[in-house]
Amino acid sequence: MSGVTRSTCPYCGVGCGVLVDARGGVTGDPAHPANQGRLCSKGTALGETLDQPGRLLHPEVDGKRASWDAALDAVAEGFRKALAEGGPDSTALYVSGQLLTEDYFAANKFAKAVLGTANIDSNSRLCMASAVAGHKRAFGEDLVPGIYEDLEQADLVVLVGSNLAWCHPVLFQRLVAAKAARPSMRVVVVDPRRTATCDVADLHLAVVPGEDVALFDALLLHLHAAGLTQPAPGLEAALAAAAGAAPRLPPADLARFLAWFATTPRVVTLFSMGANQSSAGTDKANAIINCHVATGRIGLPGAGPFSITGQPNAMGGREVGALSNMLAGHLDWATPGEHAALAEFWRAPKLATQPGLKAVELFQAAGAGRIGAMWVMATNPAVSLPDAAAVRAALKRIPMLVASDCTRESDTVDLARIRLPALGWGEKDGTVTNSERVISRQRGFRPWPGEARPDWWAISQVAQRLGWDFGWDGPAAIFREHAAVTTLARPAQRVFDLAGFTTLEDAGYAALAPTRWPVPAPGVQGGRLQPMARCVPTPPRAPAHATSAGFPLSLLTGRLRDQWHTMTRTGGVARLMAHVPEPLVSMHPDDAGALADGALARVESAWGSAVLRLKLDPAMPPGSVFAPMHWTDRFAPAARINPAVNPAVDPISGQPELKHTPVRVLPVPMAWHGFVLARRPLPTDLAEWSARLPLAHGTWRHELAGEEAPAVAFARLRAAVAEPDAAWVTLDDAAAGTHRAALLRDGRLLAVVVLGATPALPARDWLAGLFAEERIGLPARRALLAGRPADGPAPTPTICVCHGVSAGRIAAAIAGGACSLAQVGEATAAGTGCGSCRPEINALLALAAPRVAEPA
Ligand code: SF4
Repeated sequence: MSGVTRSTCPYCGVGCGVLVDARGGVTGDPAHPANQGRLCSKGTALGETLDQPGRLLHPEVDGKRASWDAALDAVAEGFRKALAEGGPDSTALYVSGQLLTEDYFAANKFAKAVLGTANIDSNSRLCMASAVAGHKRAFGEDLVPGIYEDLEQADLVVLVGSNLAWCHPVLFQRLVAAKAARPSMRVVVVDPRRTATCDVADLHLAVVPGEDVALFDALLLHLHAAGLTQPAPGLEAALAAAAGAAPRLPPADLARFLAWFATTPRVVTLFSMGANQSSAGTDKANAIINCHVATGRIGLPGAGPFSITGQPNAMGGREVGALSNMLAGHLDWATPGEHAALAEFWRAPKLATQPGLKAVELFQAAGAGRIGAMWVMATNPAVSLPDAAAVRAALKRIPMLVASDCTRESDTVDLARIRLPALGWGEKDGTVTNSERVISRQRGFRPWPGEARPDWWAISQVAQRLGWDFGWDGPAAIFREHAAVTTLARPAQRVFDLAGFTTLEDAGYAALAPTRWPVPAPGVQGGRLQPMARCVPTPPRAPAHATSAGFPLSLLTGRLRDQWHTMTRTGGVARLMAHVPEPLVSMHPDDAGALADGALARVESAWGSAVLRLKLDPAMPPGSVFAPMHWTDRFAPAARINPAVNPAVDPISGQPELKHTPVRVLPVPMAWHGFVLARRPLPTDLAEWSARLPLAHGTWRHELAGEEAPAVAFARLRAAVAEPDAAWVTLDDAAAGTHRAALLRDGRLLAVVVLGATPALPARDWLAGLFAEERIGLPARRALLAGRPADGPAPTPTICVCHGVSAGRIAAAIAGGACSLAQVGEATAAGTGCGSCRPEINALLALAAPRVAEPA
């Protein structure tokens, strides 16, 4: 294994182990318990993200390059001023599930001990704060009782608000493999949308948005009536609160689900953002947990509730207390003696004495002018928070906004007064904890670029300027201190215990193998947990804002298979952008009215709007629309969906209601639609609507639409890409509404500009392929202007990004006789890589099935 680094994928809460070779090639780590060698499309493409353009390489103050000393002085001075003028609670940190545990620990200690405020919140608030609150109510502590193996050992797996196939693909692969090996296993998907995850489902319950609590309350009543419940604290109150629960589902489907759950002792209910991101998110978590607690199906092989996190280290943030309502190490303000023990251990007489503001409240406070200094680390709140236009305005109001990031290309970094260059994946060193409590090392294997430095180092340097010496010489020292915090105020019932790591030497830390907590002594690690548990009353209630005549549809936001957050990593990788190249809003055809598939549509709410391309999708439930949350100013400024999302939050967890905003969808008439392919990225203000993405061969694609006369736009776009010594080949037919041009120099294609009166334009993938050729001849130029290849079929979208296989090739293979996933794989290689595309191949097979079944 010499020259190979063992590390962890930085994308999602599955926390897959990876092996990185000397050339940056990434493969799955067969020895890691989370993935046992598997990777998904994002993990497989990690090597392509290492040399991202747009890195932030030097500190900047007020838009000018600065030394680290000058920048750190400015940060310290900004906090000093805010403390003097507004007190501790006028200062804040907003951090990220991307941070390593050691960076998270440093940030939390800086906020609560040095600044004396609990105004430190994490973007994990948007992801799983409701699960944390649900765990605390049920178990008294933030515990995930189960482990991934439970999904393989269960006889029934219920997935609630989880598009596992796209958001946690390796766990989905494990589930698919387990079901293939044991077909008697059943899978139920509870989701308003029919997602790719339904590919493995025996039953899809298209629950009405906001009715998950009613569903699990109904289940609790059914289990009790069937005599399957056992005495548990809180059960009677939970039953009383559930009385009359009536989810609006097809009666036969509901009856089948209730019967399956009742008769299957080995049942895992996995829940994720679809449940958490709700104004009743905490109740959803508890309604699920109640059913397991009341039947004793918890902490046993193949049985238990299972919260899965979105981000790679959301769990680490929870462990160090980097949320505004937590202390550190699962210590709690409410438990006598714990605050005092931490204050003494840290020698922090001004340790924050009460919880601080949660994310949405924090930015509302900033908008009201109550925050004088804020440090944002590794996250992009200007894009990712609901009511995002108000958040942008709030960020602009903060007198000292600091942003630490590895990228310069983030909407939030743009707004910051002080910018600090952070390390990226492959450069930083520390630990992360995945959704099954396994702590793994992320190890650096690349030199630090420019002047980038670890976040923990920058934090301790600012702390030093404010009179604190954290005394750390590296992440191992921080990890030991983190472990020591978990031993404070014992004996206590807290399960989270890293006592076995308090004496871990630097060498042991360097070599640390994946270890599941609790770790009460060196060499000991945890397994399934059977916590002291109680049921919690969860009376069903409707979402915070009801749909109305003015806003008759419910907007859900979510993620795409190959994208990650606000695209700061994945947006630069051509093959990851190939799967869904444009921001789409999906809607059932019955809701479309006069709206046409492929047209631009405005999604409008009481808070704001976004313009996206409409995709009519029969798999969408009528009454709901879906839009991805990834697009930013950098890629498609008009398609940022979060300005339209309502800022309602769960009253206990503070998690925003990202899965239900009342909206209407309106047509957006445009005088022209078009695209430009060029060998460089063009500005995103080329037209009223634009979306850009990188393609192979260093080419960029720009989708555009505008209101001016097409001929004027055509001339303007050609001028925008014109180059010296290059010549145009043009087809300009205003009467036919056809405007096409190619820019060439010595036969080499430099740019293509295409405009029309409607969105129906020539396929882009084939045209983009011409950029790979050194010289294109006359037939190709003619074909280029004709808008389709001289021979062969018109191109279709890419389905398998590992092998670059299009939908058309897969359809051809199916038409040629392939009638299973394996046979499509043999014919085209599609689906034989990471496996993330298998649900879509299965969907194509299912479409063709009736035809195959027809008699000849
Ligand atoms: Fe990374 Fe994919 Fe594993 Fe998630 S499932 S950790 S994105 S390889």
